Amino acid sequence: MSPYRWLSRSLATLKQAGWYRSVQPATGRAGSVVELDGQQLLNFASNNYLGLAGDERLIEAAVLATRTYGTGSTGSRLLTGHLELHRQLEQALARLKQTEDALVFSSGYSANLGTITALVGQRDLVLSDAYNHSSLKNGAILSGATVLDYAHLDLADLGQKLAQHRQSYRRCLLLSDSVFSMDGDLCPLPALLDLGDTYDCMLLLDEAHGTGVLGAHGAGLVEQAGCTGRPLVQVGTLSKALGSLGGYVAGSAELIDFLRNRAPSWIYTTALSPADTAAALKAVEIVQAEPERRAQLWSNVTFLRQALSGLDLLPSESPILCVRSGDIPQTLQLAQALRQAGIFAPAIRPPTVPTSRIRLTVMATHTQTDLRNLAQVLQSYAEVSTDSSLPTNVY
Ligand SMILES: *Cc1c(COP(=O)(O)O)cnc(C)c1O
Repeated sequence: MSPYRWLSRSLATLKQAGWYRSVQPATGRAGSVVELDGQQLLNFASNNYLGLAGDERLIEAAVLATRTYGTGSTGSRLLTGHLELHRQLEQALARLKQTEDALVFSSGYSANLGTITALVGQRDLVLSDAYNHSSLKNGAILSGATVLDYAHLDLADLGQKLAQHRQSYRRCLLLSDSVFSMDGDLCPLPALLDLGDTYDCMLLLDEAHGTGVLGAHGAGLVEQAGCTGRPLVQVGTLSKALGSLGGYVAGSAELIDFLRNRAPSWIYTTALSPADTAAALKAVEIVQAEPERRAQLWSNVTFLRQALSGLDLLPSESPILCVRSGDIPQTLQLAQALRQAGIFAPAIRPPTVPTSRIRLTVMATHTQTDLRNLAQVLQSYAEVSTDSSLPTNVY
């Protein structure tokens, strides 16, 4: 009898529920076309919103940093791993976000874990939007604080929970995605900040899908919503619009100083690699210097929305557009049909989200033909819902 025998049973359960997932290797440089299993597919599943992950300038910066410093940073930031390059990236992020300082982590996920566990503990309260990213939810659990979810975007529910529970705790931390990653809608930031002020709460805002995408300078929802300069904890990733790998926190000098001393996922881990750091630094420069990339992204979003009119889209104010798609088998079938037509747009289903959908992410580097092709396949599937009616490979 093996103590691991439960694994095969659990896997079988996952498969039965349609929750089973597996990986597939992508080949070729990151862009609006992805090659999976030798098939070229239009990529509507990438977080590479501005196309920077395949940009020559980021590649050059990464190669140069690798030649200069080597492949690994060889240690944690507080020991031997700290490079001037890390500091330059942090200062560039702070300039982008108009905050006093910033701190880079190995990933957005570890930035959230480290920051939340540093800010709150057992005597404290965390209130978290029900649709928040896994890293916020798990950071809250790991902190040991009392964690309550409020209904998605529902500030009345949040206000009621604050009124009822806030006074029983020392500190209170509100957690929210700025752009909700599986839906594409935005959090009501100014009102959330006001409510936080009323109840003496900190707010951690996760701008993973906002940075580089929202705001005139690409600083995120904070900029777009006119909240620049208001005290809050801004977290994000270097791995989406910025085309690299890593995470960051931006905020007051005091906050960052505290995190350098108190965030375990920053202290006890190896510093970001020279290549990732240099690529992200170049990306931050490009995000600010080339607003036309962001303009192209938004013009693509508008174009696709119009092309998808008549389909059942979830509410969205971002380049993440979701098409409601019935139950799990129907959704998997639609994803399969899209794939046969040369389009990669994944089925997102429980347990990741409450209801199944096809999730589309628009890139600045999609062409109008790309977007039209996607819309044509989705529209014809909606009309007839049979495989035989589908156009064949559009790519
Ligand atoms: C992707 C994502 C993260 C994690 O960022 P990584 O750098 O990929 O670890 C955190 N929060 C949200 C909302 C995300 O979408």
